[in-house]
Parts: sequence; C-alpha cells; structure tokens
Amino acid sequence: MPLSGTLKRHASYSRRIAWSSAIIGVVFFVLFVLVLLMLTWQKRVRQHEQLLLRSSEDLQQVIATLEETLFPLQQYTQLSCSSVSRELTSRAAFADNIRAILLVRDGNAYCSSATGAFLLPARNITPASELGRDRDIQLLPGTPLLPTRPAVALWLKNPGAQESGILATINISLTPYQLLASYHPEITGMALVIGDNALLSGTQQVVHVRDLPPALAALQLPGHTLQFRLYGSTLAPRDYHLALLTGLLFSLLISAASWLILQLRRHPGREILQGIRRGEFHVEYQPLVTAPEGRPYGIEALLRWTHPVEGMIPPDAFISYAEAQNLIIPLTRHLFTLVARDAQALCQQLPRGTRLSLNLSPLHLACSEFRQHVQAWIADMPADHFSYVFEITERSMVREKNAGEIFAWLHENNVKIAIDDFGTGHSALIYLEKYPFDYLKIDRGFVQSIGTETLTSPVLDAVLLLAKKLNLKTVAEGVETRDQAAWLVKRGVTHLQGYLFSRPLRPEKLLSYYQNQARLG
Ligand code: C2E
Ligand code: CA
Ligand code: CA
Repeated sequence: MPLSGTLKRHASYSRRIAWSSAIIGVVFFVLFVLVLLMLTWQKRVRQHEQLLLRSSEDLQQVIATLEETLFPLQQYTQLSCSSVSRELTSRAAFADNIRAILLVRDGNAYCSSATGAFLLPARNITPASELGRDRDIQLLPGTPLLPTRPAVALWLKNPGAQESGILATINISLTPYQLLASYHPEITGMALVIGDNALLSGTQQVVHVRDLPPALAALQLPGHTLQFRLYGSTLAPRDYHLALLTGLLFSLLISAASWLILQLRRHPGREILQGIRRGEFHVEYQPLVTAPEGRPYGIEALLRWTHPVEGMIPPDAFISYAEAQNLIIPLTRHLFTLVARDAQALCQQLPRGTRLSLNLSPLHLACSEFRQHVQAWIADMPADHFSYVFEITERSMVREKNAGEIFAWLHENNVKIAIDDFGTGHSALIYLEKYPFDYLKIDRGFVQSIGTETLTSPVLDAVLLLAKKLNLKTVAEGVETRDQAAWLVKRGVTHLQGYLFSRPLRPEKLLSYYQNQARLG
C-alpha cells in the first residue's frame, strides 16, 4: 500500500478514536446526570420529610405547652367571671400566641380574658368544634375581635361537666415553618390543614381543604386532625444546573482520559506484540518461476497481519512501524516460527531444493544474536528440504558495516542472499561488486515501467547486463502482463515473480498451485 494509504488509515484510526472517546463521553454524561438527579431526588424527598417532621414537632410542642398552661384553668369554669377575669387576663398576657381565653359553661362562653364577662354560644365563635369531646382543635378564619386574622380554636373540656371547659383562640402563622423551608428554594409554599379547613402560606385566608392545590408531600400529626402539606417541586433548578455542569465537566475528563487510553492502547508497538501473542499474523507464499519455462522454482514468504479491528494491515505499514519501534526482531522471529510451522506441511508437496525466500530487516542483521536466531530457525525447519534465500534491501547495506562478514557467515550456513528492491536505493551498482550476492531482485517499480517509454528502461538494460557479467541470477518481481514477461525474458532475466503467475497464497492454496503445476507438466 502506498504511503498515502497508510497515512489515510492512520487518519481514520485517529478519527475513530476521537469518535469513540466522544461517544464514551456522551454516554457517561447521560448516565452521570441521570444517576445524580436520581440521588438528588431521593435526598430531596428525605429532606422534605424531615422538614415536615420538624414543622409538625414544633407545632405539637406549641400545642402541648398551651394545653399545659390552660388545663389548670378548668377549675375556673365553676366560678363567676368577675372572680377570675383578672387571673384569666394575666394568663393570656403571659402565654405566647394566645389571643383570648374563654370560659365555657353549658355551651356558652361567659368570660373572656380580653373582654371580661359576656355571653355568647361557643358555637357562634367556633361552629365546627365538638364541645362533647375532651379535646378539639379547629381553624377559624377570624375571631370576634380580629375577624380577618385566622386563629386556631383549642377546646379543652372540663372532665366533670357537660359542654363546659376552656376555649382558647390562638394566633396562627406559617411564617416560622416557612423560614425552615427557606433553605429549599424548590419549596414554594406550605399549608396547615385542620379538619376541613386549611391555611395556605403567603395568604391570611382560611380555605376549604378541597380548594387546595395538589401537594408535593404531607404529614399528619399523630393524635390530631392536623396535617402539614408542602408545595413546589422535588428538584430545584439549581439541582439540574449542578447535575448538568458536573456531568459536563466529568464527561469531558472521561472523554479526554479514554482518548488518551485508546491512543496509548493503539500504540503500534504494543499492538504488534499483542498481535504476535494473539496469533494475528500469518504468512503467504508467492511462487517464483523460472524464465522462460515458467516452472515453479521457489517461494517468497510474505508476512500478513489481520488486525481484529482494522482488518488487513499491509506489511509496508507494519514492517516500518516494527522497525521504528525496535520490534522487527521479535516480529522476524515470529515469522521464523510461522514459516517453520507451515514448512512441515509444505515439504510434503514442494520438491526438494525449492527456494524459500524470507525478507530480513537490516536491523536484525546488526543484532548480536542474529546468528543464533538463524541457526535455531534452520534447526526447526524440515532437514535438507528447502534452499534458503534471505532478501535484503540494498538501502540497508549503507547502514550495516559488518554486512560482508554476515554475508560470509550466511553462505557458510548455506543461506543464499538476494539484493531486494534493486534500483530503488542509492549507489546500487557499487554494492553489486562489493558483496557476494546470489540473486538480484528487480523492483516491481522498474517492471511496471516496461513499455511506457520512461527513462527507467535504459537503466534496467544496464543493470541486467551487469548482473549477467557478475553471474548473478535475476528475479523480476511484480510481473503482471505477458508483455512484461516477454520483455524481461528477452533481456535474460532468469526468474519471474508476479500476479501473472500467482498472487501470494496461503499454504493450502500454495499446495494446490504446486499440484496444478505438476499436472501441467
Ligand atoms: P517486497 O519484498 O518487494 O515484496 C513483494 C511485494 O510485491 C509483495 O507485497 C507482493 O505481494 C507484491 N507483489 C507481488 N507480485 C505483484 C504483482 O504482480 N503486482 C503488484 N502490484 N504487486 C506484487 P507485500 O506482501 O505487500 O509486501 C510489501 C513489502 O513488505 C515487501 O516488499 C517487503 O519489503 C515487506 N515485507 C513483507 N513481508 C515481510 C517480512 O516477513 N519481513 C520483512 N522484513 N519485510 C516484509
Ligand atoms: Ca522481497
Ligand atoms: Ca519490491
């Protein structure tokens, strides 16, 4: 694949990573906001229950204190107003919230802490109060003296007498309870319900309970017909703002972190080692044929990488990565392992003496353990079956100072050497005389220029002439047309390789290729 393709693949990698991170961020945002709102919702519900509980406890306390103050006055209901009215007045003055204390005898109020002696049926003051009960609480829209200010009527019956007892009117205001609720901007109002009547916060009017809007939460005071109700919403706008803002902040962080992790994970070096471990590499073998007969002569092992996400990655891309990441040695050793494994089956069909070419990186040649690696590989291969060729690009020779020594050692070990991609590097001709090559592989770029009146044809002519003089075998790679093959044969190229004869094949396909060739003769 050309470099542009590799770069494109790289760009699409990056785009995919960016998309994945963005999707992770969005999913996290949605989940985070939902969970946070749910938790806040539960917290607010609990807080509202607490608020109702505190308010009702407070009211209960007020009522209990009042009852304690009023209960000793029961004895006065047997006495005349004139004898107790002063006492009544001072009691009312010293008790909190009391508007008036009335003494009731036989259903009639006859003495008031506010106005002294008078006579009025208690029902006229508080029509809903049940005087037959020991204790009764009602909500009044007003009292005779303050007809527009709501009050609570507390009736405490004298246990020994019918419809006699103390009736106290008490100032009622929801302000203290609203103060408690002021920490909760989501609570817009409260109501106190007593029997069928209700007092709504913010108003000074007593309304019928059925005229109240639906409440958010309510709590009944135990042992009373009193109920506190809350109005508003469970969540405040600030709860939504907070959830959205923290969600946004965290999801940005999560996005950035996943981008970083994905970037690190896709680190090609890591991926190559992982690919080796997970068995993502395999080898394909491309046949080489003799010219002009077209008889099978050898095979070139070409490494393939099937990435679990990216699919096929061309060797042009991953070999240079492996070299850049210092991983070409483990990768070539993996190639050795794969070839040795395939060779067990291949040697059953492929004739003895078949040339088996492997591409080696110059970095590996320079490695101190190179010779051990090669010896170990040869020991793994079927004995005396293949004839080995190492293909080395001419560019590498510029860098490798000990090339001559290594080449001599390879020859001692019966490994032939091919100069690969000939004509694409610099000062190519110098190397031909300097080193003892066995094969010269003409780069497919040259072969493809055949018949296209470019300047490369005369260069190719000169190279082939030199090769003949040096007694080198020549392999033309990338032969795709009969015309190219005919042109090369005419100029004395000894071997051909290219799609015209066969593409690189998996071992099973290679075996059928050899069977077919054997049948053809
Ligand atoms: P190369 O050594 O020049 O290998 C020949 C390349 O030409 C192969 O590409 C092969 O598939 C392709 N080819 C063969 N016949 C034709 C044809 O008729 N037309 C066209 N257009 N192409 C043809 P591939 O397999 O993609 O390998 C590319 C390069 O990757 C190789 O070039 C080689 O330099 C490197 N490579 C492949 N396998 C290995 C390996 O195991 N080790 C090392 N170090 N390098 C490898
Ligand atoms: Ca090659
Ligand atoms: Ca080539």
